[in-house]
Amino acid sequence: MDAKFFECIVCFEACRDCINCLKCNPILCKSHVAELHRDQCPSCRDEPFHYQENVALQRIICQMNAAARVAAPTGEPRENVAARVEPEESAEEPEEEPDAEDSAEEAATVEPVETAEETEAEDNDNNDDNDSISRYGSKVPRPHPYEDQYRKLPNDAHKEAMLAHVHGCQDSKCHTLWRGPWGSFIGGRKGKTHFHLTNCPAGKRLNELIGWDYDDPHC
Ligand SMILES: [Zn+2]
Ligand SMILES: [Zn+2]
Ligand SMILES: [Zn+2]
Ligand SMILES: [Zn+2]
Repeated sequence: MDAKFFECIVCFEACRDCINCLKCNPILCKSHVAELHRDQCPSCRDEPFHYQENVALQRIICQMNAAARVAAPTGEPRENVAARVEPEESAEEPEEEPDAEDSAEEAATVEPVETAEETEAEDNDNNDDNDSISRYGSKVPRPHPYEDQYRKLPNDAHKEAMLAHVHGCQDSKCHTLWRGPWGSFIGGRKGKTHFHLTNCPAGKRLNELIGWDYDDPHC
């Protein structure tokens, strides 16, 4: 299948959290809704913009990305992609949350993982398959209808390693160990509402060891 088929009409990248206008067919990333000019559909100009989640397409893209990972496991993550996705949003919870950097205490479903003892990060296997993931944590399917998406959960030892890294690392994107609907990750201050995953090499590796895919954090 041609990847162009899944291109977002706003950002021209593979569509993330696909939605489409109720009046026309082109797809776009849900993250653009907040930025639409005059709340118009960017394709047919219908306003206000009414849309539906394109769950079927979200799943197809998810599966294509999974297949692509098997074929080319070392793809470079694209900058910014994660920041446009809001992990807290779902079809059941349309409420939008602004980039509230100062309201971390109010997080409903994403919260910093507190507690910490310093432990050493295990750092001896670059393998990305499920066997190695199970050594550091687990990937658990999310509830219906999102069972093609996964929570990435570290085991106790790996959680300690992640916390130790957060406390020791000066990288601004190793700010907090966040926990939310898609699991736990080391990320920056916007991690409460975005996939603000760290790009610090050691922090990123700790995320990837439990199955975080920087190209598609839902999977
Ligand atoms: Zn887009
Ligand atoms: Zn439209
Ligand atoms: Zn996905
Ligand atoms: Zn770091």
